[in-house]
Amino acid sequence: MSSNKSVTLVKNVKPFKTGWCIQVKLLHSWKQHTSYGGRSLELILADETGSKIHCSCKNDHMFRVERDLPLGVWRLITNFSLSNATGQYRPTNHAYKMSIIGDSKIKDSDFHCDDMFFSFASFEDIAMSQSFSRRRVERERGFPAFCRKCGEAAVIFTSKTLKNPGRLFHGCPNGSEEDKNHLFKWTDESAVEEIHDIKSLFDEKIGHLELQSQRCEDVIRSYDKKIEDLGDALGGLGKEMKEMKELVQGYERDVKSLKKIVVCGVGMMLVYYYFAM
Ligand SMILES: [Zn+2]
Repeated sequence: MSSNKSVTLVKNVKPFKTGWCIQVKLLHSWKQHTSYGGRSLELILADETGSKIHCSCKNDHMFRVERDLPLGVWRLITNFSLSNATGQYRPTNHAYKMSIIGDSKIKDSDFHCDDMFFSFASFEDIAMSQSFSRRRVERERGFPAFCRKCGEAAVIFTSKTLKNPGRLFHGCPNGSEEDKNHLFKWTDESAVEEIHDIKSLFDEKIGHLELQSQRCEDVIRSYDKKIEDLGDALGGLGKEMKEMKELVQGYERDVKSLKKIVVCGVGMMLVYYYFAM
């Protein structure tokens, strides 16, 4: 499709060099702010085959990138760095993430994805009959967001064929009778996939919650045991205290008896001295 030989497909770019040239268009962008990375512009770019890559642009280059890379327009981007795409929330399946650097150049591209006459009936029939099984394997699950061939955003069309009248499908505005590789997917089938995926996710979350609650119960049980042990220890202490009290009471009794003996002895001595003198 492209006449420029030095252009590399998005799926083939790798981190060992920065001199790549890719021909892409911007599908989606957003700004974010993180404590470690500061303010940045995040972009999803797609090439003519529909391969997507996540691109990040630091605050320093944000202005020119926003100016030079408008939504949905083909551009040639040269010199950018690539790093492993990590993290829990990866916006694309690409193994690497692009970063716009000081040397990055964004140039206009003469590439056009020609809008050919779009015939719903024949396009749908061809898609159904010839490449249906192949499409089933390669397509993404759920509602498609864009055409994997040209990167165009998916549009919902209504089928007008005798076989499927009024049935909705996600299609590519660039799809045609001649070029049957553009996006085509029945919307109801996508909806079923979405529901299945949501259900699986839900089941997974529920399973996780059950596991968490099981762990909580175990912790509570271990605390119950500790409280029980503490109760036993306190019970033992109470018994010891009772014994000590009894011991003290015993001493008190002894002291009282001793007092009586002493009083008696002193009395007898006084009587003795009285009579002796
Ligand atoms: Zn397309």
